[in-house]
Amino acid sequence: MSLVIVGTVAFDSIETPSGKADRVVGGAASYIALAASHFVREQELISVIGEDFPEEFLSTLESRGVNTDGLVTIKGGKSFFWEGSYHEDLIGRDTVTTELNVLEGWVPVVPENSKSAKYVMLGNLDPVVQMSVLNQIPSPDLVVLDTMNFWMDIAMESLKKVISKVDVLMINDEEARQLTGFKTLPLAAAEIHKMGPKTVVIKKGEHGAMMFEDGNTFFSPAMPLEKVIDPTGAGDTFAGGFIGYLARLGDISWEAKKQAVVVGSVLASFTCEDFGTERLQSLQESEWHTRMRELRAMVKFRSIRG
Ligand code: AMP
Repeated sequence: MSLVIVGTVAFDSIETPSGKADRVVGGAASYIALAASHFVREQELISVIGEDFPEEFLSTLESRGVNTDGLVTIKGGKSFFWEGSYHEDLIGRDTVTTELNVLEGWVPVVPENSKSAKYVMLGNLDPVVQMSVLNQIPSPDLVVLDTMNFWMDIAMESLKKVISKVDVLMINDEEARQLTGFKTLPLAAAEIHKMGPKTVVIKKGEHGAMMFEDGNTFFSPAMPLEKVIDPTGAGDTFAGGFIGYLARLGDISWEAKKQAVVVGSVLASFTCEDFGTERLQSLQESEWHTRMRELRAMVKFRSIRG
């Protein structure tokens, strides 16, 4: 298996200005796996769920080449649950509830045939679990880490340890400021480089994403959408598109990573069009190809002569 991902597989209750969705299937790893499945035919999903989780979603993942041998079901356990409420601007959101449930005390086991993985996506969850997965994969080519303010608040020390071991840190602008104390993104990125990661990707929601590596900077706008129903999972979709695309190319150069940022941005735009993972599940290749072309056309212009 060339790609291993770890992250939450969860139930989410979400309120946005467009309405409410109660206990829909979500979780960082669900979005990552669905997004990456557009690029890689086989991937290993490491996570934990309770007996309350719907079989149907697991079958959907399996039908898209996601191996679930490393997805543990805890008998009588309750799946991770997150409840969030978005502000009118659809950027700000408040976490109403986070119930770790089966995630508490869980020790991940990477199946034998995935220990040789070259691409590792440490999706949002307990940094101790992220580190444990990483320790079981001896020689990856690229390790990407995504996290969230929740873990900065309760597990900063373990988070910093795992950050020091990864190649790419992917976080949103607010989290970059919280992690580093710097207000501007170039300064925050420089500080994160000092913590270990060679590459820093900072997501800015509807304002796009920036990437910093070896003194180079890249910026991709987000696809301008007329209607945003629910941005939950957009960051995870971005991460799944980013690493899935690189795993498919087998190329981790700066140029490939720039393409991967745009792929991530385009896939994430679809996730925002419906609650939960619905839109990502129905997404066709031709649809994201069209949007890639539209985004490219929006940023191309004739060079300016002085
Ligand atoms: P995003 O909108 O990309 O930040 O991701 C939202 C997803 O992350 C939801 O599906 C949640 O189930 C999941 N999530 C929320 N809080 C956490 C957390 N503390 N750790 C891991 N996953 C989380």
